Amino acid sequence: MCGIVGYVGRQKASTILIEGLKRLEYRGYDSAGLAVLQGDGIELAKKTGRVGNLVKEAKKHRFTGTTGISHTRWATHGGVTDANAHPHVSSDGRIALVHNGVIENYLSIKKFLIGKGYTFSSETDTEVLCNLIAYHFAKATKTGDESHFLGSVRKALRHAEGTYGIAVICTEAPGELVAARKGSPLILGVGDNEFIVASDVAALISHTQNVVYLKDGEVVHITPKEFSITTLDEEDVEAVVDRVTWDIEAAELNGHAHFMEKEIFEQPAALENSMRGRFSEDGSTAKFGGLNLGPVEFRQIDRFVFLGCGTAWHACLVAEHLIERFARVPVEADYASEFRYRNGPLSGNPLFFVMSQSGETIDTLGALREAKRKGYKVLAINNTVGSTIARETDGGIYQHVGPEIGVASTKAFTSQLLIGAMLALHVARMRDMSFADGVEYVNALKGVPDLVRRVLEQAPHIKAIAQRYAHHTDFLFLGRLSLFPIALEGALKLKEISYIHAEGYPAAEMKHGPIALISEKCPSVFLVPKSEIFNKLLSSIQEVKARRGPTIVIATEGCEFPPGLADELITIPDCHEAVLPIVATIPVQLLSYYIACARGCDVDKPRNLAKSVTVE
Ligand code: GLU
Repeated sequence: MCGIVGYVGRQKASTILIEGLKRLEYRGYDSAGLAVLQGDGIELAKKTGRVGNLVKEAKKHRFTGTTGISHTRWATHGGVTDANAHPHVSSDGRIALVHNGVIENYLSIKKFLIGKGYTFSSETDTEVLCNLIAYHFAKATKTGDESHFLGSVRKALRHAEGTYGIAVICTEAPGELVAARKGSPLILGVGDNEFIVASDVAALISHTQNVVYLKDGEVVHITPKEFSITTLDEEDVEAVVDRVTWDIEAAELNGHAHFMEKEIFEQPAALENSMRGRFSEDGSTAKFGGLNLGPVEFRQIDRFVFLGCGTAWHACLVAEHLIERFARVPVEADYASEFRYRNGPLSGNPLFFVMSQSGETIDTLGALREAKRKGYKVLAINNTVGSTIARETDGGIYQHVGPEIGVASTKAFTSQLLIGAMLALHVARMRDMSFADGVEYVNALKGVPDLVRRVLEQAPHIKAIAQRYAHHTDFLFLGRLSLFPIALEGALKLKEISYIHAEGYPAAEMKHGPIALISEKCPSVFLVPKSEIFNKLLSSIQEVKARRGPTIVIATEGCEFPPGLADELITIPDCHEAVLPIVATIPVQLLSYYIACARGCDVDKPRNLAKSVTVE
């Protein structure tokens, strides 16, 4: 969480920093701030609330400098106040720093620094790191150490436990910026005699498409002319400059009210991109270039473990269902955050998949490292090229859906569902699925963008339903088998962006507890495919109706309901089981989006949430 932007170059830093912060605001919006080197000092502005507040605050200052740092905060240590906002400046006024992450041993360092006379004006862990750098800088100044700005950052970081992405400037090093990372993302944009460091490509893409993805433990030292990368132990690192394949258009709203809306409607194209070039010549199976696993090795796998958090975990559950259903191989889907610490026994020859849109989710990264430490092969399903997870896995599948900026995941989720379905096919065809069934499956996958388009055409109908139900404060989402995870996803979406209490349950479980909640005040959203359990679902709906619960039914075209059972009906096209979860997701996304809009919620910046959870 949180966004960092730092600039070194010839332009006015404040303009570029604020522009970058606006693009990173989805990462944190508790407060925002910037610090620019000017004359002999640091010009600083910071303010609680959105970047818009900072823009107003910045007008009271005259920012002219060409080197600076900035931050949008997602608070971990200390409340949302102006004093706790970043950048933090050391008590001797020499060092300014922005930080994404958590310094776990900040209390002991703080005690040490107080003993040395340093003072603190915030409650944050970040200010401690800032003063620790100042302490080492002051010490080095006394001994006349030449490169002491860079050296003092390195020294301080050697003592810092926890996670950080930082950008630092120093009044005695004009035109220089030092940035470093451990556990929090940081990217260096390499422009024409200018450099931008940022938490995310979105903040620098309008200036350059040439980027260096910094790795954990690396420190970059930037001057207006050049940059160099070293490790904390002062070893040189050769920089690899990559080219970002998408451009600024992808990070713009393009006429949509919110990124979430844009990304919902982008799904047909996003799904197309996720499957492009990934079917065999004979059209009977899926193929993936990056698994780094030959067919013989693949055949020996006797179990899959899928790990993810939040929405990605729901995609793991669907992958579990489809692989078990079509390939008949046991699968476990687990919360990455739980897997990491539970230390459950694993037997046989499992293959791990971690799912994370950003590739930076710290809980997923921790689980990946734990599985690797135990000697397992781990692959990733991930949308962000160059991300930490992509780099640390043994291979994987990129989602290719372009940047997802809306905090509530939409297109990345359906693409994860699609890739899970393709994997199920890949494994099934290596086992017992026939050629003919494979061809039918592939054709179903190829048809999914059109099916999604057909559901999207119902947006006005779903919007009208949303407006009728937006005043309710409790919802149940009920589905079975592969649509149970979609019920969970529907409930999560609604919670995330509209702050309505919602729960997802397997429909048959409703009578074992949640039925106590049913009343005319608690609508139930049912996911009802045409299937062998249609009648069972019908009974569940009856049970809700018998208790005067309003029902919103999302059902396959052609399903017939006795009069009065479905208060609202949204239909989805009849489709292959492999793509059903994708098609059924679209109405729940639209429903939660329009309910949040009807309640006047800030859809792209939901309360307490930020995208890409990089703290534990
Ligand atoms: N731990 C720091 C704070 O609470 C940084 C949080 C962030 O990543 O935004 O200020």
